[in-house]
Amino acid sequence: MLKCSECQRDLPEKEALVNKTEDGGKRIICPECFQKLTGVDYKTFAYRKENAKQTLLAVLFCIGATIYAFVEKGIEWGIGGIVLTILVYLFSSKVK
Ligand SMILES: [Zn+2]
Repeated sequence: MLKCSECQRDLPEKEALVNKTEDGGKRIICPECFQKLTGVDYKTFAYRKENAKQTLLAVLFCIGATIYAFVEKGIEWGIGGIVLTILVYLFSSKVK
C-alpha cells in the first residue's frame, strides 16, 4: 500500500500517480489530488498523453514513408509524402 502525500489516504499501487513538485522532487498522489493540483482530470491527462504519442507515431510513419517514396519513386512522390505528413499532423492535432 502506498500513501497519498497530499491527503494521506492509502491508495493501491495502480492508482498511485507520481507528481513532480516545483523543486524537482517526486511525490506519490492519488487521482483526486492530481485533479485538485493540476486542474486536469487524470483520465483527460492520460488521454491527451496517449493522443500525443499516437500523433508522433503517425508522423514518424509518414516521414519514413516519405523518405522511402523519395528514394524509390522520385522527388514528386517525396513532395507528396511531405504534404501528406503535414496533413496527418494537422489532422491529428485537431482531434483533441
Ligand atoms: Zn490524495
